Amino acid sequence: MQNIADNLGKIHLQIRAAEANAHRAAGSVTLLAVSKTQPASALREAYAAGQTAFGENYLQEALEKIESLSDLKILWHFIGPLQSNKTRKVAENFAWVHSVDRLKLAERLSEQRPGHLPPLQICLQVNISQEQSKSGCAPESVIELARAIQPLPNITLRGLMAIPQATNNPQEQQQAFHALAELLKSLQNEFPEMDTLSMGMSGDMEMAIAEGATIVRIGTAIFGARQPR
Ligand SMILES: *Cc1c(COP(=O)(O)O)cnc(C)c1O
Repeated sequence: MQNIADNLGKIHLQIRAAEANAHRAAGSVTLLAVSKTQPASALREAYAAGQTAFGENYLQEALEKIESLSDLKILWHFIGPLQSNKTRKVAENFAWVHSVDRLKLAERLSEQRPGHLPPLQICLQVNISQEQSKSGCAPESVIELARAIQPLPNITLRGLMAIPQATNNPQEQQQAFHALAELLKSLQNEFPEMDTLSMGMSGDMEMAIAEGATIVRIGTAIFGARQPR
């Protein structure tokens, strides 16, 4: 990989093209830079190139970067699996959480969100490919979860997130994105504030945008291959 600024420039062009192909407004898709395992210096480089939203998966690693990059105006998104005994630091340090898949997490995040911060923006993670042993709420349980979470005071329910099962079959991939988009549509009458579809990664961003993604979560295509943790 050459440099992060070049990669970001290319991805922005690809996003614009995918928006146009899908007859969607330019700027309707937000790029979230997934920076797990990357050093703070790489995030600083991306920030200098105009990237302000970063997604992190591992809390301890994220907190170290948040501390060392506190001079920058970064919008931090938590996108990894979340244990309920780790919610406080997430509530205190992040703007968004994409991986809420049960009520208890949302209750704790709401309770622990500091009063001087705006409400925490939440996506419900859906196990859209119905995989065994995968995090995410079952698609048929999402509406119940949304109803329980919506009244909580210090969080705003913004939408749905999924990591579809890896597949080499583009049609299967598309069906998974489509199913998540349909699920969001089915919720929007009752929950008009749910406007976010967090789906699509480096390998399938275009297809996710064609199916309605509003946030794409891109790591490898920006920062290069990750070192094993
Ligand atoms: C790592 C990760 C990504 C980014 O994946 P890439 O293939 O590197 O773009 C997106 N979403 C989640 C939840 C991730 O854990």
